[in-house]
Amino acid sequence: MDFKMGKNRIKKIRTIAAALTWSLFLAAVGVGAGAFNREKRQIIQVIQIEKPKVALTFDDGPNKKYTPALLNELGKRGIHASFFLMGKNIPGNEKLVQQMQKEGHLLGNHTYNHVELDKIPVAQARTEVERTSNEIYKITGVYPQYVRPPFGAWPKNFDLLVTMFPVLWDVDTLDWKSKNVDCIMRLVRSQVKDGSIILMHDGYQTSVDAAVQIMDELLERGYEFVTVDQLLIM
Ligand SMILES: [Zn+2]
Repeated sequence: MDFKMGKNRIKKIRTIAAALTWSLFLAAVGVGAGAFNREKRQIIQVIQIEKPKVALTFDDGPNKKYTPALLNELGKRGIHASFFLMGKNIPGNEKLVQQMQKEGHLLGNHTYNHVELDKIPVAQARTEVERTSNEIYKITGVYPQYVRPPFGAWPKNFDLLVTMFPVLWDVDTLDWKSKNVDCIMRLVRSQVKDGSIILMHDGYQTSVDAAVQIMDELLERGYEFVTVDQLLIM
């Protein structure tokens, strides 16, 4: 009898032990799952904290004197910009266009003669754009997809005619007008935000100097520099 009771007691102890082991196992799984979920939440938070993006754009080039310095500064920081080239400035500057492409910058069209596209006959406007695209194609083997219309003037439905996208801007640095780094910086600081397209011109030393300051300051503020195509598809 005693032996039997003893057996029962052992059985009971075993059952309790098994139950304890099981609950410990479940607790461990629970803790593990909790940790996993916490980690998952952190990963999701990291994905959600995307950097604000900004695009630097340079019109009217290429410029034999200032574009090389600008490309050098962009390259040092691993930043890609968008260059909207004037067709008439391309002959003689083929090497610069090649360098832009090789270094990952976006090449866009700024018409051949810097014309106001909605002030001339549509056939002429089309020639202005196509001539420039052909110049870029001859060097890069790629037709540009984006046009920065001079003065922001884009005739109605012109995108359908030339099958290209117009790219405007929201931060006008007026760099060509002020030729002053402090003025340019004041305008940028007061207007820049996530998704901004900054309009500049690679035709002045002050623009190159300001671009350097814009890059360093916005990198410091956590901005990521992208080419315009990356802002337009968002
Ligand atoms: Zn221009």
